[in-house]
Amino acid sequence: MAKSRFYLMILMIGLLLLFGGCQLFRRQGPPKNRIPQSFTYMGDASTHQFHRQGCRMLKDCKVRIYYRDIAAPLKAGYTPCPVCKP
Ligand SMILES: [Zn+2]
Repeated sequence: MAKSRFYLMILMIGLLLLFGGCQLFRRQGPPKNRIPQSFTYMGDASTHQFHRQGCRMLKDCKVRIYYRDIAAPLKAGYTPCPVCKP
């Protein structure tokens, strides 16, 4: 009886570790929308426009791309936003 209880406990600990490991792995997974430390412009991948930080047009933006300088979004074919005029 004691022996089967011992095995049950080992099994439970194993399951807990497995579950905990999965949670940890999920938490450490790659973030979908990584925000760089420094950026000046934000591109909207759906409208192919780029904006200054804090532009009101970015409220509806779902896929954001961050740029440090103005040359990068222009090179990628993005057009400047008519609202914030980057
Ligand atoms: Zn804008």
